[in-house]
Amino acid sequence: MLTPPIGLLGGTFDPIHIGHLRPAIEAREALDLAEVRLLPNHIPPHRASPLCSSEQRLAMVRLAAAETPGFVVDERELGRDKPSYTIDTLIALRKELPDTPLCFLMGMDSLLGLPSWHRWQELLAYAHLVVSVRPGWQPDYPAEIEDLLRHHQSRDKQDFHRHRHGRVWLCDNLPIELSATRLRTLLAEGRDPRYLLPASVASHIAKHGLYQPTP
Ligand code: ATP
Repeated sequence: MLTPPIGLLGGTFDPIHIGHLRPAIEAREALDLAEVRLLPNHIPPHRASPLCSSEQRLAMVRLAAAETPGFVVDERELGRDKPSYTIDTLIALRKELPDTPLCFLMGMDSLLGLPSWHRWQELLAYAHLVVSVRPGWQPDYPAEIEDLLRHHQSRDKQDFHRHRHGRVWLCDNLPIELSATRLRTLLAEGRDPRYLLPASVASHIAKHGLYQPTP
């Protein structure tokens, strides 16, 4: 007997914003996910700044989860000292949750880039994929993704409850044209980020002077 499916959303979350949260809330509603786990990524230190520390990104993800019912934080990737591959995270979660369907959430940009991911063809052996529309990223699929959808796309939400892995769901979510890059630019210009991210996260950014213009 399987337990209800859960959602997994990995990201840099630098900072977390409504483009992460709204599609995840809508995916939770569409598929009756028991919870959504936010998994902040480890970022190599050489990545371009402005970049918040892991602690700051985690603090913001925790604040966002605290004000979003059904959302929790999973810190496993931050605890590692090197970037972790999604396949490794899914293998670990599958061991911990043998009877829970896992739904890995991603935006359309990630689906289009999936063929470059480490061992991407094995992802569906551990989880379902749940893909949100994202403005600027049209579903012009590369041949590998066309093929993946031909074999694995499902429009029956019960499939995501009856099977632990192996299906792809294309969401019909409200498109949100926001990236963390755009938000960082806006903050660096000293502008007001209100309504683009949770109020508690906006307060945290203001309180700690994150992403602010350089004096
Ligand atoms: P950056 O601009 O720093 O690259 P980002 O805003 O794209 O960041 P990530 O943390 O890289 O955010 O994204 C994590 C996940 O959230 C990815 O699967 C990505 O596709 C998805 N995502 C991010 N923004 C949106 C959005 N506006 N709509 C739908 N999905 C999104």
